[in-house]
Amino acid sequence: MSHSIDYLVVGAGFAGSIVAERLASAGRQVLIIDKRPHVAGNAYDEYDAHGVLIHRYGPHIFHTNAPRIVEYLSQFTQWRPYEHRVLAEVNDQLLPMPINRDTVNRLYRLDLDEAGVQAFFEKVREPRDPVRTSEDVVLNSVGRDLYEKFFMNYTRKQWGLDPSELAAGVAARIPVRTNQDDRYFTDSHQVMPLHGYTRMFERMLDHPNIRVEVGVDFDAIRDQVQAGHIVYTGPIDAYFNYCFGKLPYRSLRFEHEHLADTPQYQAVGTVNYPNRHAYTRITEFKHLTGQAHPGTSIVREYPEAEGDPYYPIPRPENEALFKRYQELAEQEANVSFVGRLAQYRYYNMDQVAAAALKAAENILSRMKAVA
Ligand code: FAD
Ligand code: UDP
Repeated sequence: MSHSIDYLVVGAGFAGSIVAERLASAGRQVLIIDKRPHVAGNAYDEYDAHGVLIHRYGPHIFHTNAPRIVEYLSQFTQWRPYEHRVLAEVNDQLLPMPINRDTVNRLYRLDLDEAGVQAFFEKVREPRDPVRTSEDVVLNSVGRDLYEKFFMNYTRKQWGLDPSELAAGVAARIPVRTNQDDRYFTDSHQVMPLHGYTRMFERMLDHPNIRVEVGVDFDAIRDQVQAGHIVYTGPIDAYFNYCFGKLPYRSLRFEHEHLADTPQYQAVGTVNYPNRHAYTRITEFKHLTGQAHPGTSIVREYPEAEGDPYYPIPRPENEALFKRYQELAEQEANVSFVGRLAQYRYYNMDQVAAAALKAAENILSRMKAVA
C-alpha cells in the first residue's frame, strides 16, 4: 500500500466510521482501515457457531439523552426498544443494581417506603467534602456497608485499583435511587440496533466515497501512505510511539459460552458478581437482542492488566500523562484524534458518536477555510 489519499481514517469503530461517513457524504474520498478483521470496533456483534447474536467484545447497550445521535444513527438502522436491568449477587441474594428501595429492603429485611429509604441513606452515609475519588462518591451517598458489599470488591477486580485510587467519575456512573426503578439507565432513548451493530456499521460505510480495508495496521503503513488529513482513533500513546511511556488502559478477557437447550440462563441481561469469582459479570445476549432461540449464549468478563486496550483508567496521574500526549497531538496540524482511546475518555457509545460528529464538522469547516 503505497499511495497518496485525501483522508485516512484509522479505526472503524464508532469514532472512525462516523467521521468517515460524514466526510464521504460531504464529497470527500476516504480510506478507512482497522487492524482487526472487521468493522464496528468494540461494538462488533456476530452470530456465534450456534446462531445466537453475540457481542464479541462484551455487552454493548445503547442509551442516550441526545435525540440528535439517535436521528443520525437511524439513517443506518432500525431499532428495538430495550431497557437494561442488572442484578448484583450479594450475600447469596440477587439484588437490583443500581441500589434502589428494593435493594435496601431485601438486603436488610426492611419494609421502607421512599422517604424511609431516603432517611436510611441519610443515617448511614459518610459525608465527604470534597468528593474526589470513587470511594468518596459511594461512601458519601450510601455509607460503608453498601460500599463494601456492592462497590469495593467489584471495583478492585475491574480496575486492579482501590476505589480510593480512581476518579469520582467512575463510581458516579452508577446512581443511587430511593424509588423502585430497577433500570440500569434512565436515558430518554434506550434502544438496540434491530439487526445488530455490525449491520449498522456496514450500512454507514457503504458509500461510493469510502474504501474500507480491514486487517491493516496503521503502524505497518504509516510510512507508505501520504494522507492530506488523518483521523486517528487508536490509543494516543501508540500514535506517538509511547514517547512519554505507556498510558494505562485496562483490558478484559471475554469467556463466551453457549448453553444448548437452555432458553434462558438468568432473569436479566447482566448479573454482577462483586464479591465472588474472578469475573465481574455475566451477560446473556438474548435479553439485549430479543432473539428467539432454543439455546442461549453468555459472556463472562475477566479484567486483565495486559491485552487489548478497552478502558482508559480515570485517575489524576493518568490524566496528567494524557495531557502531555495531548499537547503533542495539538501540534499535529493534519491529524484529528477522536474516540475513547485517542481522547483517553471513559466514553459511552453515544458520547463517542457526538465527539465524532463534532470532529467531522471541524475538519470540514477547516478544509473549507483552507480551500
Ligand atoms: P473502538 O470501538 O475501540 O474502535 C477503535 C478501533 O481502532 C478498533 O477497532 C481498533 O482495532 C482500531 N485500531 C486501533 N489501533 C489501530 C491501528 N494502529 N491500526 C488500525 N486500527 C487500529 N458503551 C455504551 O454506550 N454502552 C455499553 O453498554 C458499553 N459497554 C461496553 C462494554 C465493554 C466491555 C467495553 C470495553 C466498552 C463498552 N462501551 C459501552 C464503550 C464503547 O465500546 C465505546 O464507547 C465505543 O465503542 C468506542 O468507540 P471508538 O471508535 O472510540 O473505539
Ligand atoms: N461498579 C461497582 N459495582 C457494580 C457495578 C459498577 O463497583 O455492581 C463500579 C465499578 O467501579 C465499575 C463502575 O462502577 O467499573 C462503572 O460501572 P459500569 O457498569 O458503568 O461499567 P462498564 O459497563 O463501563 O464496564
